[in-house]
Amino acid sequence: MKQETPVAALAANPLLRNRTGPYGLPPFREVRPEHFEPAFEQAMREQLAEVDAIANQPEPPTFHNTVQAFDRGGRLYTRIDLLFHNLAASETSPQLQTVQREMAPRLAAHENAVAMHEGLFARIDSLHRRRHELDLDDEDLALLERVHCDFVLAGAKLAGQSRERHGRIAEELAQLTTRFAQNLLAEEAAWVLPLEGEADLAGLPESVRAAARNAAAERGLPAGAHAVTLSPSLAEPFLTFSSRRDLREKVWRGRVERGAHAGEHDNRPVAARIVALRQELAALHGYASYADYALVDRMAQDTGAVLDLLEKAWEPAKAKAAQDRERLTAMARQLREPTPIAAWDWRWLAEKVRQQEFDLDDAELKPYFALDNMIAAMFDVAGRLFGLTFVEQPGAPLYHPDVRLWEVHDRTGRLIGVFLGDNFARPTKRSGAWMNVYRSQSEIDGGTLPIVANNNNFAKADPTLLSFEDVRTLFHEFGHGLHGLLSQVRHERLSGTCVLRDFVELPSQLFENWALEPQVLERHARHWKTGETIPQALLDKLLRARQFDQAWATIQYTGPALIDMALHSLPAGTPVDVAQFEAQQQRALGVPEDIGQRHHLTHFQHLFAGGYAAGYYVYMWAEVLEADAFDAFTETGDPFHGDTAERLHRHIYSTGGKHQPAKAYRAFRGRDPQVDSMLRKRGLLPS
Ligand SMILES: [Zn+2]
Repeated sequence: MKQETPVAALAANPLLRNRTGPYGLPPFREVRPEHFEPAFEQAMREQLAEVDAIANQPEPPTFHNTVQAFDRGGRLYTRIDLLFHNLAASETSPQLQTVQREMAPRLAAHENAVAMHEGLFARIDSLHRRRHELDLDDEDLALLERVHCDFVLAGAKLAGQSRERHGRIAEELAQLTTRFAQNLLAEEAAWVLPLEGEADLAGLPESVRAAARNAAAERGLPAGAHAVTLSPSLAEPFLTFSSRRDLREKVWRGRVERGAHAGEHDNRPVAARIVALRQELAALHGYASYADYALVDRMAQDTGAVLDLLEKAWEPAKAKAAQDRERLTAMARQLREPTPIAAWDWRWLAEKVRQQEFDLDDAELKPYFALDNMIAAMFDVAGRLFGLTFVEQPGAPLYHPDVRLWEVHDRTGRLIGVFLGDNFARPTKRSGAWMNVYRSQSEIDGGTLPIVANNNNFAKADPTLLSFEDVRTLFHEFGHGLHGLLSQVRHERLSGTCVLRDFVELPSQLFENWALEPQVLERHARHWKTGETIPQALLDKLLRARQFDQAWATIQYTGPALIDMALHSLPAGTPVDVAQFEAQQQRALGVPEDIGQRHHLTHFQHLFAGGYAAGYYVYMWAEVLEADAFDAFTETGDPFHGDTAERLHRHIYSTGGKHQPAKAYRAFRGRDPQVDSMLRKRGLLPS
């Protein structure tokens, strides 16, 4: 028999103590990887006991004693789970990774046991059947619908053998998706291209050289050495600026081939197995494909609506790219570079064309986009739109010295949340940019203060200067952050960003628009050294260059989105070799070889480690909403128009999952969204 954890050991576990520190922050400074397992054990026991108590109470089910009680339960589990997954993404270690591999199937089994609890589901189901007779207000009804849907999708309606099989699939998927992400991290951490001498640095502006010096130091190379890693914030500028075609090809191949090397970190068999399990899962639920199953819980509702949207962008983007290719080929000839151009040439040549046509040089722009100034800019926008102020509190006990904490106050000065900014790349952090919460807003226990974090992967330098793409990423994640901070709901399951997947990118993508607002740039885009405001001529060029190379960006994104839908639309029982499948899809779609894809299946974390399977389209779906929503401001002639901002706050940023997304959008805009704003914004509509 397994030995019980001694009471003294549990008492010493910081994860099990009440959070008495400032803002109820997690015990970042005290927690060690070995604390998680025993704390999870206790939290799982507690939650199962709570669920049993809800299910076994003698009173007949009511909204309060069943649905609301369930939403309010599992406090300890949620608290530990959020901390665990956030640390695993932002500040991992070999020890934490071991715990993660060991815990993944156990946590999945626990979540499955809760989601498949027969007694609890019977009560929820009986309430759901009578939902329109219960006299519930909108938010309570939304919670009942939401929780019922969660249980059904998790397999609560299944019986007998299919029920058992469902549980085992969920556990294996949890293990495989963890493995997928860890394989990728290992491949990225192992890949480095040292740059030897001036010849290897040809074409690189000082900002990229500085980032390359930091990367070299981080990888333990001698002081003053330079290196490229696969981190997008270094690899992408390298591909844009390096005049060494041979090195660009190496970096490009390094990125494309991530996860596709034979050996212990090979993601090909992992992805294939994930797809097979998803097919089986969908079949258990009675759906023809995983995409059909996944889309039940989306605003789009069916694959037809998704394909219709993606195809509206795909062909016009290819047509526009053909024109762009001619300009790039002419540039290659002028520079006596080889033609036809290759995928590792496109960014570099596009930059040359951009410099010539718009006379716009990223290196010239960067000094105006110091990270601290851009943080001030996004806070300022949040202030002008929603009346928020941000007060930094240095010295708060956090998990890494680079992380910063701000108190967030509303118009009346009331503290409404805590915002953490974790902006720099490091080997212990996963790549990409994301928002997460350590605690969600709700009215549980008299109201909880949201603790919201933004993670970016900017190359740290002194000062850190951002490309305009980086600035957009910063604003994007902050848009998600505001969605979490401004949430005003009663129930945790409906809080902040807990909305349908194809609605969740609306607040983030919409917020990016303000990064390009002349009023914002004039105030905040100041030269880091001289404090001089960005010159009007440079600003005009930046605004004019907005649509430049959008066909390339559209193809890079839409190709993977279409391949995701095709892969997850395969009927149950179709074995798949992911590399072959991808190549065949590329041919069928006519993915231009010199443009390629932003993600390939062997490193496509959105699909295999991020919950976006049959859902990568959501960014474009949200872009339709976002472009149409920003036009609501444009139509007033004021990017901070008071009434429009108020409606945006009331119907979009504060409502979480209280309302159906289509209804919430209509309440904000006064009508349904229109696709043309998005196509026009990308320059894909004849103007
Ligand atoms: Zn996002």
